Formats: sequence, C-alpha cells, structure tokens
Amino acid sequence: MNRRHFLSDIARYSVLCAGVPNLWRVTRRPALADSPFLLGVASGDPTPHGAVLWTRLAQSPLDPDGGMDGSRVVLDWEVADDEAFGTVAQRGRVIAAPELGYSAHVDVTGLRPGRWYFYRFRLPAGASPVGRLRTTPEGAAAEPLRFAFVSCQHYEDGLYTAFDYLSREELDLVAHLGDYIYEYSGRAGRTRRYPTTEIQTLDHYRIRYAATKADPALMAAHARAPWIVTWDDHEVDNNYAGLVGENGMESEEQMHQRRAMGYQAWWENMPVRVPRARSWADLNITRTVAWGALARFWVLDTRQHRSDQACGDGLRPVPCGEWADPSRTMLGRAQESWLVNGLARDRAAWQVLANQVAVAPIDNIPGEARGLSMDQWSGYPVARDRLLAAIGRHAPNRTVVITGDIHTNWVNEVRTGYDRPDGRVIGAEFVGTSISSGGDGRDESLTWTDAMRADNPHIRWHNARRGYVTCEVTDRQWNTRYRTVPFVTRPGAAIGTASAWRVERGRPGIEQL
Ligand code: FE
Ligand code: CA
Repeated sequence: MNRRHFLSDIARYSVLCAGVPNLWRVTRRPALADSPFLLGVASGDPTPHGAVLWTRLAQSPLDPDGGMDGSRVVLDWEVADDEAFGTVAQRGRVIAAPELGYSAHVDVTGLRPGRWYFYRFRLPAGASPVGRLRTTPEGAAAEPLRFAFVSCQHYEDGLYTAFDYLSREELDLVAHLGDYIYEYSGRAGRTRRYPTTEIQTLDHYRIRYAATKADPALMAAHARAPWIVTWDDHEVDNNYAGLVGENGMESEEQMHQRRAMGYQAWWENMPVRVPRARSWADLNITRTVAWGALARFWVLDTRQHRSDQACGDGLRPVPCGEWADPSRTMLGRAQESWLVNGLARDRAAWQVLANQVAVAPIDNIPGEARGLSMDQWSGYPVARDRLLAAIGRHAPNRTVVITGDIHTNWVNEVRTGYDRPDGRVIGAEFVGTSISSGGDGRDESLTWTDAMRADNPHIRWHNARRGYVTCEVTDRQWNTRYRTVPFVTRPGAAIGTASAWRVERGRPGIEQL
C-alpha cells in the first residue's frame, strides 16, 4: 500500500466523516463473492482541481446493511485522463464503513482545470463502473457551460426514461434540486417492496436511496458528469419546515431525530463536499460551485431554516394570518446574509440560484382575490421581497433561478415585486418538472386557465410533462430547453423539446425561441 496516498486519503476521509466513533478500528478486504458496486458511482461539487468521488457498496441493496458483512472495506480509487486508465492522474485508498452506510467519499485534488477525467473504484472482486467528471475552468471559460437540472424522482411513480435521455446529452454538469427520494410510497408506476411503508429508522432511508440508485438510467446519469445536489422536503418529510413536521403531530425532538436520519442518509448517498456538523440534524449544505468566471451556483436550503408555513400550509387566499409577518424567514438569517453578501461581492457573469420552491407566485384564484402556495416563496412574501431587492441591487438581469418541487414546468420573470403588474424584470426563473413524480404528465395542469394567465403576467409559459431542463450558457447568452417525455408509466417514450428560451445578460426579459 502506498502509505502517502493512504494517509492523505484518510485525512480527507476524516474531514468528511469526523464524529463517527471508532473510525480507526481494523479494516479489511473481505472476500466479496460478487462485485458490490450495484449502486454505481458519482462525482460532484467540482472545482478547478478536483471533485468529490462517491460510491456506496451493496450486495443486496434492499437489505438493511446492503447485504454486507459488517466490516469496513478498503477501496482503491483512481482518476485517469483516459477511459482505459492508461494515464492515471490521481489514485488512493478510501474506507467504506458500515456506520456510514458503506458509502465512500473521496475529495480529489491535484487535477487540471477545465478537463474531462475518468474515475473508478476497485476491489479484488472487481472494478466499479467508470464515471466521467469535468473539472471547472479557471478564469474565463473557453467553451459554453452546458448543464441540466432535475428534481423529483419518486421511484414508484414512474420510469427514469428522462434520465436515460439526459445521460446521452452533452453536459458538463447536472444540478439536482431535491426530492431525490420520497419518504412515502408512490402510486403504481413500478413497485418496490420496502420493509415498511412508513420511514422510522436510518435503515429505512438508506433502503429508499438504494432502491432509487440501483436504477441503471440514474446510474448512467451520475456517471456522465459531476452533479451539484441539494435537497427539498421529501428527503425527510413532506413540507417540513425547520423542526415542524408535515402534520405538526411530531414533537421537535422527534423531528430532530428524523432530520438527523434523513440528512445522514442523504449525505451518505450524495457526492457532496459539505462541512460536518455536531449533529447530522444540523448538516449545512449551502455552498457555491463556480464555473470559472462564467457562472456561480448558489446551492440553497429552503427547508431547514424556514419558519413554519403560514395559515396552515396549502393554497390559501391572501392576506391571511401571519403570512406577511416580517419576522418570518425562508432561508434563516445566516443563509440569507451569506447569499445577499455573496451576490453583492461575486463577479461571475451569471448568478445561479439552485433553489427548491418557486420564487414567482402562482395566483390560482381568478380575479381580484389572490390565492397562493404557502409552501413556496409566495408564502414568505417579506423574505421573498428581500431576495428580490438583493437581486435587483446586486445582479439584475444576470441572475437565473432554477427551481424544482412542483412537478411542472414554468418560465417566470423575476421582477422587482409581484404586487403590481408593472414590476420591472430583473431576472429569470426556470422551474423544472419532475423526472417521474406524479406519474404520466400532461400538457398543462388542469387548473391553469386563461383567467389565471391574466392574473399572472410574469408567467411566460407552463407545461406539465415529465423530463428535465438543459441550459447552455455563454458570457452573453443563456439558452434554456425544456426536454419532456409524454409518459413514464411504460417504457419507450420519445424525448422532445417542449419549448426553448433565451436570456441576454444585462437585458431585461426572457425571449421564446
Ligand atoms: Fe417532489
Ligand atoms: Ca417538494
């Protein structure tokens, strides 16, 4: 064993999982009968000189311990210039431990900027699938940035046909905006037998990730390019807010435990570089990823620190109750000032908010009265207006919000405000539909009527098919394509572009192509 590599890996590993007791207990290389790389490989959070490599070992993914034998496993990893691994750029060893769900995270450094690499893990029993990763450029980007964003992939709701197509696109990056798993069972698209329908333990969360990750199309999408991942609500509990559960029946102590389990399982399964927390329940996943001088992604967490939804959550006529109370928050004070100060300071051509819930309101009551979602930014109007003010002051018409959550596609103008129809345009929000959640889609949500169009002049387009969104970004232009499939409950759907949009940096407005 190369001692220098081993020690430097251990140092990186211990940063990622410090706080786990007995890390230094004996590890060994068990004689695994079959290759345990059934959950694939992934990379994420790229920098000019590296990225995080990920895998998670399992021999039978739906068993609580993945069918592993309870001992730690030492893995070799390597990053090469070529797919045949003829020219290895970096290599080392990493431990997959049962306390962390047999996941392995390697924070690779020492690579060159703006280049494609190939990576894999190895055991005596065999090698993992090969993944591709691209380091970010340093300074000006020589080529356009091409990335896709996705969200909401309820396994049982439908097939990952969209991921199959996504994994064939030319992409430098994929952003996942949350609902990677769902904590409840889905409708009939395809079935999985979980040990329980109700999540109660860390193992239950781990098994949901394993069931999801064993899908070949999702594995191919991860192997294709590095990902930037954030979470939404279903990684823990539907529409939770801070330490308040969906139906308010759980105590704060119970929600704290549930969050700890959900956040730990998320970390174990994601190729992310986030600092450790004293408790998993307080894991801070806000971070930025810069694509050279071209773009900076602000990875937001709109679940952990938000005030409880106003007026009992759901769609509500406004004003109501505490809805407009200025003390209510979406990001929490620390994350909000991190974002606002960051937008003020950062010089990247484009500021990209990797966000969960829609910033632009969708008024669903025709006429004078307004009905808004209490779960989206529209349910936190004072906090939303502070966000809009920061965008307008620091990065007008070079800020793009990418959003998930609602299983439908929307193109929204980001405006100085939404209370008057003449608010100025200061950016664009592209809301992307689900990969599979909700089952087969349709052209429009049934509730989207001409009267609602008139009430929502900032909404340029809507569609309710399944799919993903691709973006091609240069210094001057941002081009967005809505890629959709007509069904997900049976195989064989064709991919198409439902609509395409352009934003010119520095110019207000979103142009349909
Ligand atoms: Fe969802
Ligand atoms: Ca959601």
